[in-house]
Amino acid sequence: MLFASFLQDPNFIRVCYIVAFALFVIGLGGLTGPRTAVRGNRIAALGMAIAIVATLLTKGMGNWGLIVLGIVIGTAIGVPAARSVKMTAMPQMVALFNGVGGGAIALIAWAEFRSSGGFDFTPTYIAIFSLFSAIVGSVSFWGSNIAFAKLQELISGSPVKLPGQQVINIALLAIAVGCSVAIVAGQTNEWVFILILVAAALLGNFLVLPIGGADMPVVISLLNAFTGLSAAAAGISLDNTALIVAGMIVGASGTILTNLMATAMNRSILSIVAGGFGGGGVLPAASSDGVVRTARSTSASDAAVQMAYANSVMIVPGYGMAVAQAQHAVRELTRELEKRGVEVNFAIHPVAGRMPGHMNVLLAEADVPYDQLKEMEQANPLFSRTDVSLIIGANDVTNPAANDDPSSPIYGMPILEVDRSNSVIVLKRSMSSGFAGIDNPLFYADNTAMLFGDAKASVQEITTELTEL
Ligand code: NDP
Repeated sequence: MLFASFLQDPNFIRVCYIVAFALFVIGLGGLTGPRTAVRGNRIAALGMAIAIVATLLTKGMGNWGLIVLGIVIGTAIGVPAARSVKMTAMPQMVALFNGVGGGAIALIAWAEFRSSGGFDFTPTYIAIFSLFSAIVGSVSFWGSNIAFAKLQELISGSPVKLPGQQVINIALLAIAVGCSVAIVAGQTNEWVFILILVAAALLGNFLVLPIGGADMPVVISLLNAFTGLSAAAAGISLDNTALIVAGMIVGASGTILTNLMATAMNRSILSIVAGGFGGGGVLPAASSDGVVRTARSTSASDAAVQMAYANSVMIVPGYGMAVAQAQHAVRELTRELEKRGVEVNFAIHPVAGRMPGHMNVLLAEADVPYDQLKEMEQANPLFSRTDVSLIIGANDVTNPAANDDPSSPIYGMPILEVDRSNSVIVLKRSMSSGFAGIDNPLFYADNTAMLFGDAKASVQEITTELTEL
């Protein structure tokens, strides 16, 4: 009995929260590098477990049956989904899980409104935070669902825009804010609250539908920040410190990540939300400008000879390396080249692959030394001194149209300037486009040769040829 009342003591719960916050921050610190990321994740998860247990210990927690049912359903769906998801499908998984968080926050605000019979007797600032969490949480839930459906190819990745979209969006926001003002002023009709949720839901859909596939990573991270902010606002209205701190950490880190990714793609967040970039799926014919271009293909043995006699090779990995799971084969190839005295480096584009840090994670898994990984800013000046650039399943991040062709949808996005190297070998299966759905003039350049096939098989063949030279 004494022990039970000790566990429920608000001071004990506060101490648990403080321990949880410290673990969140230490965990986040671990996420800054691929080698410490797994440990960081576990530390943060332990912090979250402590915060959940501490919250459940709080007096008057409510219906235990429902709480346990929620935990069982969440675990039964979440654990197998997280275990079976492929690394390449991680962005849509993040979108879905993040969206569910936003949806939960919106539902909490609704439940609060119902249980207090409107916000009539609630202090104004609490009502404002609660309504804010309902609007932003709902936008995040519905927007994340669309992002998930686009990345999972359940709906087209192309931008979908209604005529007068901006006006419709402003009108929906005005409805949500107007109804919120009415509720703060004393309106207790539940339908007004439901109207807020519906307007915010439509707004979430309409905000993400016009955004093209290539901008999706930035959008997911932006929605992540939204969910964090809505959670923090819910924390204020529920007087729950854990929710405020966790929400602010998610909000702040999501905002920083959004900014970094938008900068990496040379896009302002506003222009991304305005939509239209990276339609996905429209591949202009190579001869659409009237010029018939042909790509030159090469063989694994020629590629091996070319690299064996090079002084420096720059490996440029992309999404295709992840699909082929070629990272270990690539590591073998670098060992073979280094035995021959070739200097090997890796050029890493910030949005190569399908999630931030995707290439770093794969290459760390294959034990590629960290000092061989060159960020875009370090790699670009090196290309003009590189004998061979070996592109492994990368496409959009090497597309010179981003620098040279103002009519290109990716014009202005910083790219790896592979075209400046002496020669380029591209490993991919066909002439298909990448994520942004656009042709890549690099493949038709005089100094480029294509080695068609699955990236892992091609890399292994090159390595075998090298050992036999
Ligand atoms: P891309 O999607 O531009 O191109 C990948 C290429 O890999 C394709 O052209 C494909 O060609 C090739 N490929 C696929 N499977 C294989 C395989 N088994 N073996 C060999 N090649 C293969 O990838 P990039 O990494 O260059 O660019 C990333 C793109 O994804 C950018 O547009 C970015 O904006 C977007 N994005 C990035 C996210 C992130 O956070 N990093 C998240 C979501 C999107 P083929 O079919 O001919 O083999």
